Amino acid sequence: MWIAKTIDQARQLRHALTGSVSLVPTMGALHAGHARLIQHARELCDHVVVSIFVNPTQFGPGEDYTAYPRPLDADLAVCRDARVHGVFQPTADEIYPPTLPDTSIDVPRLTQDLEASHRPGHFQGVCRVVLKLLNIIQPDTACFGEKDYQQLKVIEAMVDDLALPVNIAATPTVRERDGLAMSSRNAYLCSEDRAHAVALYKALCEAKALIQEGGENDPAAVEQTMDRVLRAYHVEPDYTAVRHPQTLMPLDCIEPRLTGGVAALVAGRLGRVRLIDNMVIGHPTSITSPMPHLQRASA
Ligand code: AMP
Repeated sequence: MWIAKTIDQARQLRHALTGSVSLVPTMGALHAGHARLIQHARELCDHVVVSIFVNPTQFGPGEDYTAYPRPLDADLAVCRDARVHGVFQPTADEIYPPTLPDTSIDVPRLTQDLEASHRPGHFQGVCRVVLKLLNIIQPDTACFGEKDYQQLKVIEAMVDDLALPVNIAATPTVRERDGLAMSSRNAYLCSEDRAHAVALYKALCEAKALIQEGGENDPAAVEQTMDRVLRAYHVEPDYTAVRHPQTLMPLDCIEPRLTGGVAALVAGRLGRVRLIDNMVIGHPTSITSPMPHLQRASA
């Protein structure tokens, strides 16, 4: 397994790979969720390259950039065990030398709210680093987790809008035994908060039962139920939302007419730890939504 620290090294080592290449971008502190992405990437392409880079531009002021875990040796061991072909592990100065002009990539229609409201500038930072990694590694496929659902939709849209020659593959969320979505930030939870953290998954399961078994078609009613579940476990909600699964637009109603399901999304805080989760709920019949930009596109 090669380890490239500079952009030049990564380019050279990548171009020496013959056959298809998939990229798994990560911030390290690798867990079983990342391992599933790597496995998915191996199923899709001949070679897998993992990037490990705690990207400063996607952290806001007061977020955990300096405290973010960086267990580099353990991460490299995970990659070796998963038979990764190459790791790109640059420093922040390598990716963002101070002379650069702070290019910003904005996907406004998908970043009006949800995570964007609580993490200003986050998605511009994500898009900048992902586009840069795609340009450096030039993979055939890049794998992203459904765990970060809005991020996945933003990256799909950026790739589509900029006609980037890469296939984006979505990998399902890997969960702990009690349903908590695996996350590098779970390590911050004290044991009491860890027990309460299951609330996010329970809220999503409640939403699913309400829609699929209860026939609930009012998004606000589902959102209120998820809010109640979070609070019952002492999780302070940042948002609970039921949205169109592709556009992330609010829905007028969950209506038995079309197909495609709805995305339920939750974010909340347990003390200083912020957690997010989501579930795409396939409604037997499905949804209507305002989707103004789609209406414009087809007009
Ligand atoms: P991160 O290192 O947190 O930036 O995540 C790197 C990639 O792993 C992203 O595409 C995440 O969506 C994905 N990921 C993180 N946690 C999980 C999980 N529990 N299951 C599946 N994918 C995940």
